[in-house]
Amino acid sequence: MIMNTTLENNIALWRERIGNASAKWGGAEICAVTKTVDVDTINRARTAGIQTIGENRVQELMSKIDRLDPGYQIHLIGQLQTNKVKTIIGRVAMVQSLDRDALAQELSRRAVQAGTVVPALVQVNIAREPQKAGIAEEELVDFLRRAGDLPGIRIEGLMAIMPLASDPETVRPYFRRMRGWFDRLRDQDLPGVHMNVLSMGMSGDCIVAAEEGATMVRLGRALFGARPTGTDTNQGG
Ligand SMILES: *Cc1c(COP(=O)(O)O)cnc(C)c1O
Repeated sequence: MIMNTTLENNIALWRERIGNASAKWGGAEICAVTKTVDVDTINRARTAGIQTIGENRVQELMSKIDRLDPGYQIHLIGQLQTNKVKTIIGRVAMVQSLDRDALAQELSRRAVQAGTVVPALVQVNIAREPQKAGIAEEELVDFLRRAGDLPGIRIEGLMAIMPLASDPETVRPYFRRMRGWFDRLRDQDLPGVHMNVLSMGMSGDCIVAAEEGATMVRLGRALFGARPTGTDTNQGG
């Protein structure tokens, strides 16, 4: 639990910074990344104005979910195994990490079974990192056509995780490329594909992301402080 008003101050500070950096685009929302953060602290963030939280592991999310402030929009942001899809259907507001056909099909199948539709962002491997999940740019349109056809998912936009960089300026071209796709795809208006959310930028590079047109940035450490060592992974589970 973060003591005193550090969390509240961090939220106010980063809202202002992100607001300024994204002003010409009409602003960007903060998704508070709450992996390793305890429920009391997460719920304090809600009181301080955070509306959306991101968790990257299904197991950790499910261990907290019943105690989370019911006003939260909960997003799954980590790699999702198909055998865990049934656990999260109807429990999360969005899956940000749709990265393959098998996952799209399973999400759709389970959603239809449950009489619901899952909003999802397609994760793009914009920097072509071999170890990273995500659809390659040249496959994006075909993937969106197939995913947009499925009855149980609704594509709401795109998500990207940038390469680790000590200087965020080095990833600015990737953010710009992502915004380019977002705008082109919005114009293209593929069936079942909407471009309302462009989720990109984390604590280390969120200002550059906001300047380049993110509609949502995902902030963990900037709000909650450093995570315990050994827990810092972008992989889900
Ligand atoms: C952990 C994580 C973040 C937040 O990272 P910070 O550097 O703590 O801001 C954002 N996106 C994903 C997918 C993550 O796993």
